Amino acid sequence: MLDTEIKQQLAQYLELMEGDIVLQVSAGKDETSQNILKLVNELASMSSRITVETAALERTPSFCVNRPNENTGITFAGVPLGHEFTSLIMALLQVSGRAPKVEQKIIDQIQGIQDQLHFETYISLSCHNCPDVVQALNIMSVLNPNITHTMIDGAAFKAEVEKKNIMAVPTVYLNGEVFSSGRMSIEEILTKLGIGTDASEFNEKETFDVLVIGAGSAGCSAAIYAVRKGIRTGIVAERFGGQVNDTLAIENIIGTKATEGPKFVASLEEHVKDYPIDVINNQRVVSLTKKELIEIELANGAILKSKTVILATGARWRNVGVPGEMEFKNKGVAYCPHCDGPLFEGKNVAVIGGGNSGIEAAIDLAGIVKHVTVLEFMPELKADQVLQDRLYSLPNVTVLKNVQTKEITGNHTVNGLTYVDRETGEETHIDLQGVFILIGLVPNTDWLGDTLEKTRIGEIVVDKHGATTIPGVFAAGDCTDSAYKQIIISMGSGATAALGAFDYLIRN
Ligand SMILES: Cc1cc2nc3c(=O)[nH]c(=O)nc-3n(C[C@H](O)[C@H](O)[C@H](O)COP(=O)(O)OP(=O)(O)OC[C@H]3O[C@@H](n4cnc5c(N)ncnc54)[C@H](O)[C@@H]3O)c2cc1C
Repeated sequence: MLDTEIKQQLAQYLELMEGDIVLQVSAGKDETSQNILKLVNELASMSSRITVETAALERTPSFCVNRPNENTGITFAGVPLGHEFTSLIMALLQVSGRAPKVEQKIIDQIQGIQDQLHFETYISLSCHNCPDVVQALNIMSVLNPNITHTMIDGAAFKAEVEKKNIMAVPTVYLNGEVFSSGRMSIEEILTKLGIGTDASEFNEKETFDVLVIGAGSAGCSAAIYAVRKGIRTGIVAERFGGQVNDTLAIENIIGTKATEGPKFVASLEEHVKDYPIDVINNQRVVSLTKKELIEIELANGAILKSKTVILATGARWRNVGVPGEMEFKNKGVAYCPHCDGPLFEGKNVAVIGGGNSGIEAAIDLAGIVKHVTVLEFMPELKADQVLQDRLYSLPNVTVLKNVQTKEITGNHTVNGLTYVDRETGEETHIDLQGVFILIGLVPNTDWLGDTLEKTRIGEIVVDKHGATTIPGVFAAGDCTDSAYKQIIISMGSGATAALGAFDYLIRN
């Protein structure tokens, strides 16, 4: 079941176990059951701390990771290999007694939960966003006996997934009702449960010299450059890491031949936390007001004050803006082919967008689904020629150019798409079950209103010091009018904005 290299790595992790574990298995005669049995027996053969028992669990096939005579509430329904293998290792270590790497404040919040919370997370083994959610909910289960969590592999429980119309992973249910869809950190889960930090804690914060808004590549770089000047620096963000969280392979950070988004975010966080930077995560900024100081208002009503501000709020996926898009979001309308592609196995899908991300998605999906239709608004695809050549070599792809998507149709889930030929005006409807939208990004600057100068498409206009049209307010990264949007460019502009802000502070 496990190859030699993985077994060697696993053996090192199993050495770290601090107590005994019982894997309780509910298995039948099907292939997944047999694979689960092979996996748990292999684990037991590698550590004397692990024993295997049979049990009648809610789902078959599945297995629980428990302590002897004590249920932890962690269940894996399916074989946790692929991206979920780490979730299994973490669960083994944490259930055995190794403390999860979570701040004490968060542990206290989790342990204070009195309600009975039963979480179920539907995943696919190829989803790189799913393990974060699975691991966060497993940690919550380990820390609080009122909380249970089951990971459910959609491929092993197809009937259940179809009955619930789940077309995006990770999808989390709480006590039988949909709780969330998409990657979430433990802090975000707690905030969604209504357990978080209240406004009063922030209102008491001292004035910052530099307050960075956004903790993506640009914001982290700006904060590190600022704090290294010895000035009081803070960083406030909705989601630490920004877009890089959603990136799989990264091969163009100069000096790092290859990495992956979540790994890169972890190293950004480690670097930021190495300095006395006040990191305020999972908080959304809603307004900026320039008074004697600059006042930043958070969604929870708190006001943070700073002498200078660096806006590094990045960008988000652009919506196509047609009827059906919002109604069928996560019910056939998707934005992440890596995550949701496997749920469309054997089905017909469309990809809207003929740029690099759209064509990469179409190539990726063509290996899983029955047929892919690519819709490009312009008369020609914009993707690199090498990607186009690969696309046109695939037998199950149709490319429609110079077409405009008019509507995504469906009942409970997507059943088709209507487009208009821009040359002839002719309208056509195609039957399909999924639509992947990959038409670029929009800057996260709407919340700024018209307080400063922006371009026609909402990008913040900056000068060569990263300064905006408000004195003391700087900007960096994908939210600005920089010609190119890349990690290394965001980091460079973050450094520029921080040096610009420092220069402003010593002159004013
Ligand atoms: C799928 C994908 C693959 C990519 N691959 C690559 C690649 O291989 N190489 C490469 O160089 N680039 C790649 N890019 C582009 C690269 O990720 C971006 O250019 C870069 O991450 C932008 O960084 P940023 O800090 O400007 O913005 P973001 O990463 O978008 O970060 C914005 C930050 O601001 C926060 N924020 C937004 N609004 C608010 C608010 N109102 N209040 C508080 N916080 C807020 C967000 O939570 C986040 O922390 C890719 C992008 C995507 C989407």
